[in-house]
Amino acid sequence: MKKKSDPQTGTICPSCGKGKLTFKAGKRDLGPLLGLSEVTVENLSAPSCPTCGAILVSGEVLELVSLGIAGSMLSQAELEPIEVRFLRKLLEYTQADLAEHLGVDRATANRWEQEGGRLTGANSYALRSHVFMQLRDKAGALFAAAEKALKEHSAPRPTVPAYRTLDVERLRAA
Ligand SMILES: [Zn+2]
Repeated sequence: MKKKSDPQTGTICPSCGKGKLTFKAGKRDLGPLLGLSEVTVENLSAPSCPTCGAILVSGEVLELVSLGIAGSMLSQAELEPIEVRFLRKLLEYTQADLAEHLGVDRATANRWEQEGGRLTGANSYALRSHVFMQLRDKAGALFAAAEKALKEHSAPRPTVPAYRTLDVERLRAA
């Protein structure tokens, strides 16, 4: 027996070509899409595929979420390799670009993204400041906490990063 579906849904998934997209609002994990682990985004309304799990997020929402995450990362004193990679990609930099902008050698910039590495101290500050300067115009109020943290003092890295849970409506209202 076929389920009656909403006219907006039922489109074949462009990702797997098998599932039919369903449209529902709620909490979604955008971690895989962003190259991070576990990023629960609330109030996200986007079609998704029940077969392969693909979520079709608009460019506008993806940018909003990415900048919200970046703002949260810039407030932390230390960065995990996965976070360094996320910030570098957000700037559309290669590792060589990042090394050049921060005045370190390429091997060093590469090491920051290797497992077990952790960016601390002056290097962390330099990277976070650079990202801040590059994206501040785009991010606006989403970087307010980061600006304060960079000017005053950065909070110790929380056990659970703040960006693990984001709310699209809150980001929009910022
Ligand atoms: Zn699919």
